[in-house]
Amino acid sequence: MAQNADMKELDPRWRDGGDLRWLYLDMNSYFASCAQQDEPAIRNRPVIVVPVMSDYTCAIAASKEAKALGVKTGTQVKEARERIPGLVIREARPDRYVDLHNQILAQIDHVIPVEKVCSIDEVACRLMGPQQLEAPARALGHRIQRRILENVGECLTASIGIAPSRLLAKTAADMKKPLGLTVLRQDELPGALLELEIDEFAGIGRSMKARLNAAGVETVRQLWELSPSRMRQIWRGIMGENFWYALHGTDPLEIETHRASITHGHVLAQELRPAEHARGVARRLTAKCGSRLRRMGYKCGGLHLYLRGAGGERLEAATRFAVTSDSFRMLEASDDLWAQCARRLKAPRVKQIVVTCLHLIEAGAKPDLFGWTPDGEEDGRHMSLLSALDALNQKFGKDAITIGPRTKMHGFVGAKIAFNRIPEQPEFWE
Ligand SMILES: [Mg+2]
Repeated sequence: MAQNADMKELDPRWRDGGDLRWLYLDMNSYFASCAQQDEPAIRNRPVIVVPVMSDYTCAIAASKEAKALGVKTGTQVKEARERIPGLVIREARPDRYVDLHNQILAQIDHVIPVEKVCSIDEVACRLMGPQQLEAPARALGHRIQRRILENVGECLTASIGIAPSRLLAKTAADMKKPLGLTVLRQDELPGALLELEIDEFAGIGRSMKARLNAAGVETVRQLWELSPSRMRQIWRGIMGENFWYALHGTDPLEIETHRASITHGHVLAQELRPAEHARGVARRLTAKCGSRLRRMGYKCGGLHLYLRGAGGERLEAATRFAVTSDSFRMLEASDDLWAQCARRLKAPRVKQIVVTCLHLIEAGAKPDLFGWTPDGEEDGRHMSLLSALDALNQKFGKDAITIGPRTKMHGFVGAKIAFNRIPEQPEFWE
C-alpha cells in the first residue's frame, strides 16, 4: 500500500533516478543551542545542558564547542568538568524548548508541510512533485535552514537529509553537522552509506548490533547485501524486513499506535533518594498523571509503579481499579504499589520512579460496559475540588497548590522531553 502511494507520487516528469521522497530535519545540539540563543554571553563556548544541577547526572545535550572537546550527550557532569575547564553548565528548560520547537515548526510550515514530528528537534517532511528532483529539494532545504536562523534564532542550526525513504533521510541528516545538507539518491545507493558504521542507522541499537555481529555482519556493505528474509530472521520479526526496505529506499507501512498509557517519571536528585522523600515524589508523579488525564479527557483503570533502587534493583507493581481520573483514588492505589515495592528495596534509597496510568478510556465512555463497578464513579466533590486545583495551578504556576506535602523536584516533574513525545505547554504548569 505504501509502495503504491509512493508510485503514484512519482510522476514520470519528476523521475530522474533520485527518487527523493523525504526531507528530514534535525536541529544541531538542540538544547545547548537554545541555551546559547537565550544567553549571548555563552555563545561560542562549550556548554552542556543537564536535567538537574548535580555532578552525578549526565549531559542531555552538548554544544558543538563542547563536542569538539570530547564531551557529548551522556557524558557525566563530573567527567565533563574535568575534561573542559570553564565548561558552562545550564539546567534544562523544557518549556522553552517546546516554545522554540513550535516556532521552528511554523517556519518549516511556511516552506513545506510537516508530515511527522519525530521528536522535539526532529521532523520529517514529504517531498512532492518537482520537489523530488535534487536541485529543488536542496533549495528547499537551504530555505528552511535560513528561515529558522533568520526568524527563530541565529544559534538554531539544523542539519537536513534528503532521501528516498524516511530512514535514509534521517541517516543523511546525521551525516553532516552543523548546518549540513546531505542528499542520498536512489541511483547512487549504497554510496555514502558504506562509510557509516552499522549502528549509525536508527533502529540498530546496541543489542541489534550484537545480533548482527553474531550473524557475521560487521560493515554496512555486509548489511546492504543481506536479503529481506535474512534480516527478518536476525531481527526476529517483520521489523527486519521493514528495515531492509527502508535501507534500500522504500518506506515500510507505518503502524500508528493509539495512546494506551500516560507516563510520568523522574530520576531523583541525591537529596530526594531517601525512601520517605521518594514516596513524596511518587505521589507527585501520580497527581500529575491525574491532572494530565483530566486535561486530555481520559480516565484510567490501573496504575503501574516502577522503582529503581540505589543498589540498581528494579522493582515494579501494578494494580487495576474501577476507571477514574480522581487523583485521590489514584493516590490510594499508588500508595499501595509503593508499599509493595518499598519493602523489596535492598536499602531505603530510590534512584528513579516511573508512574504509568494503564487501561485508558475516554472520559465520556460508558463505565459499565466491561464490568466496571459503580464504585468506580468518581466522588463528585473530589472532582470539583480537583478541577479547581488544576485551574489554580494553570493560572498561578504548578505547585501553587499540591496534594499532600510539597516535594521540591527541581523545577519540573513530568513535562520532560521524551524522545517520542513533545509535551504540550499546559503540562509545564501541572
Ligand atoms: Mg538533534
